[in-house]
Amino acid sequence: MTRSGNSFDATHHDSGASLWAATSPPPPPLVPLAGDAAADVAVVGAGYTGLCAAITLADAGRSVVVLDAAEPGHGASGRSGGQVIPGLKDDPEQIEARYGSDLGPRLVRTVASGPDVVFDLIRRFGIDCQAVRAGWIQPAHNDATRRLVEARARQWHARGAPTRVLERDEVAALTGSSLYVGGWFDGRGGTVQPLAYVRGLGRAAVSLGARVFRDTPVRALTHGSAGWLLGTPNGSVRARRVVLATNACSGPLHDPLRRSVVAVPSYQVATRPLPPSLRAQILPGGQAVSDTYNLLRYYRLDAAGRLVVGARGQFGRRTGHELLRHHDAAIREIYPQLGTPDYEFRWSGEVAVTTDHVPHLHDLGDGLYAALGFNGRGVAMASLLGRLVANLVLERADPDGFVYPVTPLSPIPMHAFNQLGVRATISYLRMKDGHWL
Ligand SMILES: Cc1cc2nc3c(=O)[nH]c(=O)nc-3n(C[C@H](O)[C@H](O)[C@H](O)COP(=O)(O)OP(=O)(O)OC[C@H]3O[C@@H](n4cnc5c(N)ncnc54)[C@H](O)[C@@H]3O)c2cc1C
Repeated sequence: MTRSGNSFDATHHDSGASLWAATSPPPPPLVPLAGDAAADVAVVGAGYTGLCAAITLADAGRSVVVLDAAEPGHGASGRSGGQVIPGLKDDPEQIEARYGSDLGPRLVRTVASGPDVVFDLIRRFGIDCQAVRAGWIQPAHNDATRRLVEARARQWHARGAPTRVLERDEVAALTGSSLYVGGWFDGRGGTVQPLAYVRGLGRAAVSLGARVFRDTPVRALTHGSAGWLLGTPNGSVRARRVVLATNACSGPLHDPLRRSVVAVPSYQVATRPLPPSLRAQILPGGQAVSDTYNLLRYYRLDAAGRLVVGARGQFGRRTGHELLRHHDAAIREIYPQLGTPDYEFRWSGEVAVTTDHVPHLHDLGDGLYAALGFNGRGVAMASLLGRLVANLVLERADPDGFVYPVTPLSPIPMHAFNQLGVRATISYLRMKDGHWL
């Protein structure tokens, strides 16, 4: 990798450790790869995608090596908001229209099951990650988005999901904010401590026999008659099959893959634990919230009652001071009762965005596979696609009947010229066509 896709560094001007790093159980005891290894499958990247792929492969009896440039959760997985959100950004009717009467409904059922995949893994492996399944709320900030989310709630409800439309007063009671005009509630969603979840997945993969190496960047990937050879600073791995699970930080290892997504910065802050009086008003039921603004704001409480708020970066707003002002303004608008917010933590990461707004699953040929581009919905979707990319490796149908389209790689043409331009273009298009990041 030439650059870190997700960093707490000078680029993003944040203060250092995230809330999640400060409150997670320790990482699994891992070492860097030293020497040469061989496995049926090599997985590059130890986030939700790579580790869920490794778990599925190890369950199926394959020998697996997982290599991460840093450690499990170093990428977006350890920095996310931890909101477990079902579905794609597209609504069920859009998915069914796009994929037809056979694949469409099966795909809707698949993406609806993302949170089940997450909470089942947590249960199965006893992962200690503050998992709460209290639901997810999408409040609407104007009448146009209210109509849109109401239609969304009804479409999911018609397909058996525990969703309902929320009137203005209900949104205010559930969130503690009177900013919104309505919204919907989705009982399938929830929250996790994201770094604890991904570290738990790492421990689970190891418990099944996967060999997971930290501080082991894959610098070269070559294919020959004996399969794939992955070059790292102090050793190599031979494998017939390789899964690339590098998401927004795909780097030069596979350049067309890197150019198939755009890395959009997202910043989060966590307040100090709220006093009981505010805690009784703000998200008393413990739901996660992502609203409908074009540059969306997403928020939740952690186990200690800190308000954790994230927002997508704005182009040109680069200094830590300016970013904090942006969050201050958002929080003051949503929760004026908080006064001047007192932050205990702030951190950032990069969200891998695709031009069609859906994650991509690729068969790149010769036993090379990839899943990436979760568009800010990776806790559930990357856990799910990790399993589905493993099914591709195993050449089998999913035991629960889950399906997902395998698409050709389509690098974004402008990418080579100007990443910032691509980001700005996507952002503009989303505002124009009513999608939000
Ligand atoms: C700030 C932020 C907030 C978010 N909030 C939410 C949320 O609330 N809910 C939600 O559903 N989604 C959220 N997301 C999105 C979600 O976190 C991601 O979609 C998900 O974590 C992607 O997982 P992944 O395993 O595909 O990639 P990552 O977690 O990014 O993992 C990729 C890994 O690949 C490794 N790697 C890269 N290149 C190499 C190499 N050459 N050799 C070895 N290792 C390599 C990296 O070190 C990294 O660990 C958020 C994202 C961000 C950045």
